[in-house]
Amino acid sequence: MFARHFIDSLDFARNGRELRGEIPVSEIPRLQDMLAVAEGKIGYVVRGFQDKDGKPKLEVALDGMCQLRCQRCLNALAYPVKLVSRLLLVQGGELDESSVEQDDLDSIPADGHQDIVALVEEEILLSLPFAPKHPAGTCQPVAGGLEWSEPERKPFAALAGLKIE
Ligand SMILES: [Zn+2]
Repeated sequence: MFARHFIDSLDFARNGRELRGEIPVSEIPRLQDMLAVAEGKIGYVVRGFQDKDGKPKLEVALDGMCQLRCQRCLNALAYPVKLVSRLLLVQGGELDESSVEQDDLDSIPADGHQDIVALVEEEILLSLPFAPKHPAGTCQPVAGGLEWSEPERKPFAALAGLKIE
């Protein structure tokens, strides 16, 4: 059974904690619409640390695979999820320009009850291509769907086509 983990992100960073585990792709809610099949797992390592200026940060490293739906043929497209992001933890109301502009580092609000799944989900969604597709020419033909399944209806389909011309 998959158990969700929550961390106090600020405490996590200040004490240099680390948490690692695996999340089944099927447990990542906002990913489901993009998937052909909800198979696979995403391995994660979340590490808290303070940078040289003493700012609390989280490093999220993901390594796994998901089966996206190809936007051309709608078949499964194996997509490796491999990324490392560093997130600056920002405390209430402190999300000002200076922290946002800081060398394209992402900021998230510090949270005493940060959901690890939500954190991983956000990083995956940000990394996915807008319209995933197989490389050109490698799509499989769509199974079913384009052909009449009942043979007796074919003549009507042909007639309909003739009338339009
Ligand atoms: Zn395809």
